[in-house]
Amino acid sequence: MKHTIFYLFIFALFFSCSAQTVTRKAYSTEQTTSDNSKPKLVVGIVVDQMRYDYLTRFYNKYGEGGFKRMINEGFNCKNNHFNYIPTYTGPGHASIYTGTTPKYHGIIANNWYDKVLKNWVYCAGDSTVQSLGTTDKSGQMSPHRMKTTTFADENRLFTQLRGKTIGISIKDRGAILPAGHTANAAYWFKGEDEGNWITSSFYMNELPNWVKDFNESNIVESYLKVWNTLYNIETYTESGSDLNSFEGGFKGKDTAAFPYDLTELEAQNHGLSILKSTPYGNSLITDFAIAAIKGEQLGQDNITDVLTVSFSSTDYIGHNFGVNSKEVEDSYIRLDMDLERFFNVLDAEIGKGEYTVFLTADHGAVNVPSYLKSLKIPSGYVETATIKEKLSKFMNSTFGSSELIENASNNQIFLNREKIKELNLELEDVQETIVNEIITYQHVDKAYSATTMRTVDFNSGIEELLQNGYNQKRSGDVIVVYGAAFISYHNTGSTHGSGLNYDTHVPLLFFGKGIDHGQTLLRTKITDIAPTMSALLGISFPNAATGSVLDFVINNE
Ligand code: ZN
Ligand code: ZN
Repeated sequence: MKHTIFYLFIFALFFSCSAQTVTRKAYSTEQTTSDNSKPKLVVGIVVDQMRYDYLTRFYNKYGEGGFKRMINEGFNCKNNHFNYIPTYTGPGHASIYTGTTPKYHGIIANNWYDKVLKNWVYCAGDSTVQSLGTTDKSGQMSPHRMKTTTFADENRLFTQLRGKTIGISIKDRGAILPAGHTANAAYWFKGEDEGNWITSSFYMNELPNWVKDFNESNIVESYLKVWNTLYNIETYTESGSDLNSFEGGFKGKDTAAFPYDLTELEAQNHGLSILKSTPYGNSLITDFAIAAIKGEQLGQDNITDVLTVSFSSTDYIGHNFGVNSKEVEDSYIRLDMDLERFFNVLDAEIGKGEYTVFLTADHGAVNVPSYLKSLKIPSGYVETATIKEKLSKFMNSTFGSSELIENASNNQIFLNREKIKELNLELEDVQETIVNEIITYQHVDKAYSATTMRTVDFNSGIEELLQNGYNQKRSGDVIVVYGAAFISYHNTGSTHGSGLNYDTHVPLLFFGKGIDHGQTLLRTKITDIAPTMSALLGISFPNAATGSVLDFVINNE
């Protein structure tokens, strides 16, 4: 018996030791594999206002090294959508990188009425910081209004700040929100008579030398040239005729038709800012992103860095010329070439297969309603001034006061709480009365009160999207939705903001380290991107992420 116990003891000891060895071994192997399996650099690319069909409509015009390389080597999520309203640039960039919607990250629009300050605020505006690289206020920006973390923030925390984050875009919000709160830098473009890449004291006290060198070079000015179609315009069969009544154009030129001599037009179109509204703006972003990779030595060690690049010019061009224009087609053909040039630099500097890229958009865009109307598709323009005037008269006759509406913006109505108390009214009654009145107005398709948003749990349709975009602290008292293809805009060019497919359906491509090759038609959400990147890197999810990991995208071998 004694012996048996002794042998059992020896056996147990041996077994537990070997088990421990096995565990340790597994642990150390995993450590080594996980370091080698991580990308040296993650590049997040946002193409401002890129509809999903720009991938398919212009497919035959693309080369092998840009969009097609991402599709042929990587993973194509063909049914990817925004899952909230409003589909604007600020909320779009915040949602892609935080993995959640305005309900949680708080970026409810580009500009909104702040109920507490009783004033307008800008999503990236910050008067407590100073401009760097310009003397005016265009550098006074930071991500302080975004309430949650991006996956780049989580990578900074995970790597003890050893992994870098750099954000780049022509638009300040396109650079700042993706890079997050802990970014080493975000850079955006100051046009007018300056033509410089700038930042704010939120990130640093002085521009690094590589940025100064870039600003002192004549790269920006070199793009002031004639913008003509890259290929013979006759071959641009995927877009409408160049001359029509649906396009805006530049000041100083009678028609919105090629060619555009930028040296002639710049004086009447805000100097170097004209570049933003041409494909050369995207080329300039590419040049600067390449300079950043070299200047910051991104992806040069085994600690993952994050570079966020947002191509803004496609949005300005879409707003000016519309979804169906030759100008948009030419811009995407040229962007495809910029992407190829960019990927070639990543191959050379970081190494093929050593980096991971995703590409998506911050929203889509509607076809110009006046064009749709010419084709008998229900569409048109909403006169918000008329709606405001009518509602104001109604409030006066119903409640005996014209001061109950404090602000109306971004399809939301903000009520004056003090006045409601003063008149002994109930907030919820006033909200519901407005809902029942405004729904009778022409082009108003739906209206909901904040009380409904707060108390009813929607899980489908436009209502779910409104709820995901509704932030209890920041949003208004009544939310209004216009009919499909009805916009509040001038009657040339495209815009965005709705929860309809033309605004929500955008590309989502992944390629590079850790990414499988494939495609899916399963519906994916814009908020899935950040959790997927976190899973790929083995780091924490952004702190308020609500999206899911797209596990079919990740190569788990
Ligand atoms: Zn945008
Ligand atoms: Zn836009």
